[in-house]
Amino acid sequence: MSNCCSSKSDFTEESIKPEVPTLCPLCGQKGLKVKPLTLQSLLTVEEASDFAFEGFRFCRTQGCQVAYFGLDETLFTTEQVKVPIYQKDLNPEVYVCYCFKVSRGEVVASVGRGEGSQTYDQVKQKKDTSGWDCEAKNPQGNCCFGNLKDLIQSAQ
Ligand SMILES: [Zn+2]
Repeated sequence: MSNCCSSKSDFTEESIKPEVPTLCPLCGQKGLKVKPLTLQSLLTVEEASDFAFEGFRFCRTQGCQVAYFGLDETLFTTEQVKVPIYQKDLNPEVYVCYCFKVSRGEVVASVGRGEGSQTYDQVKQKKDTSGWDCEAKNPQGNCCFGNLKDLIQSAQ
């Protein structure tokens, strides 16, 4: 009832709240924080949209089978994700931009034609005009531009 008591209980809860490890339990590399929406949208797990998925992290290591890890050693592997993961699957048909379905192969081919920067601009323009949905569509839970830029550079 008093502020004193409620803040005390908050403090207790806060102090015993367990932390999700920052490093992937399998490969030992640092994972990126992802929002619950990403797991809710992309996991093949039944009724994934009903789970809270608080505090999960995404593992971007190429050879690692772990897609997401969370509290109490909860893991989801690449096989439990609806789409192939760009960082982990090097096939040309894998999307670099999940919102507009632009594949790695398409980008590499456009760079081969000397049109890498046009491809980048096209994606950017689509994003500016039609909006985007990276949190729900891209397994890494955020925008693809960094990956797209790196891909264009490495293909040049
Ligand atoms: Zn890993």
